[in-house]
Amino acid sequence: MKSAPSAPPIVFHNGTVVLPDKLLPDAAVVCEGDRIKRVGHLRPLPRGATLVDAKGGYIAPGFVDIHVHGGDGADFMDGTADAVRTACRAHARHGTTTIFPTTTTGSPEQLSAMLQACLEVQRSRTDDDGARLAGVHFYGPYFAPDKVGCHSQAGRRNPEAREYRRHFDTSIIRIATCAAELPGAEAFYREARKRGCLITCGHSNATWTEMARAFQAGMRHVDHFWCAMSSVASLRQRYGTPMQASMEQFVLANPEMSTEVIADGCHLAPELLEFAYRQLGPRRLCLVTDANRALDMPPGRYRFGCAADGEWIESDGRVGFVPGGGALASSVVGLDTMVRHMKAATTASLPEVIRMASLTPAERAGIADEVGSLSPGKRADVLVLNQRLQVKRVLLGGVAMAAS
Ligand SMILES: [Zn+2]
Ligand SMILES: [Zn+2]
Repeated sequence: MKSAPSAPPIVFHNGTVVLPDKLLPDAAVVCEGDRIKRVGHLRPLPRGATLVDAKGGYIAPGFVDIHVHGGDGADFMDGTADAVRTACRAHARHGTTTIFPTTTTGSPEQLSAMLQACLEVQRSRTDDDGARLAGVHFYGPYFAPDKVGCHSQAGRRNPEAREYRRHFDTSIIRIATCAAELPGAEAFYREARKRGCLITCGHSNATWTEMARAFQAGMRHVDHFWCAMSSVASLRQRYGTPMQASMEQFVLANPEMSTEVIADGCHLAPELLEFAYRQLGPRRLCLVTDANRALDMPPGRYRFGCAADGEWIESDGRVGFVPGGGALASSVVGLDTMVRHMKAATTASLPEVIRMASLTPAERAGIADEVGSLSPGKRADVLVLNQRLQVKRVLLGGVAMAAS
């Protein structure tokens, strides 16, 4: 179904509309062209419209994923437009309509190839390309040596202006990560701030003091809370006593900081998800997939990062892990699974859970004027979810995608 300006409006009806702060039972969403036109109780429905029956389920905004590595066999670091499109299509089937392809550690050439592939897909977008690329999350390679996790250690390094300026010059980087304790981290943050990025600290063993300095330089977010980050215990190992506050306390104590959780049921126990929700609230907590290429693939061994030389990880179909060791190695499920699990595992309401997967990440990434909620004027990225929160229909910029 194409949606040229002359095409009839698309009306989602017979469902509960999910707004950021409440549910609107038995309401409708009208889309015209690539925009949302009206939201609310509409009787009668506009004449000549294409009707989409939500069948008593939910009409929700498309999801926004700010931390995601791949899917359906492709990793964004494979560095080809084909790989980028494959992963974006896979995530669209899970309800993600806006995506920030995320780098791993790797050589400067591998990172350049990834950025170029994303630029190519963004410039030549077609209706079949799946989740729309809103920018790249430049995540690896500036990780702390002791917090590299499942990424390739050989691809890790300290920030160097000559390298990252070249990457920033592509103008496609919208989110930028660096471990706060690395030499040159503050200069990296200041450069990222100049470029208008959401600045984040991850794969880091930073102290409160290092976080405070990073905050001064513009850092406002921490990647996958509790994973590959400092704790009071890890800092005691680094510095002894008196024990020091860590990234965890810095985020919880500072209302300008946001973070994200991998709510797949494998990374974090329900009480941690509930704790994060209660302490941070739905405006400071994002749901991300952090999914690797094993999403929608059978259990087995996969490369994390570049197909040529990424580290081997294993998927059991529920989560990724390091072979033999048992350490987790990112997720293998979509944002729809995260939404269902967060709803089941915590006391967050449905509007709050959906907000954490749509408007909150959009706000943090600076694209909430365009996407993230069902508001007139925003892009027509609309989902139909059934009562069990499974994705039944996906509208991407006014264009319907085949149901999963
Ligand atoms: Zn990570
Ligand atoms: Zn990741």
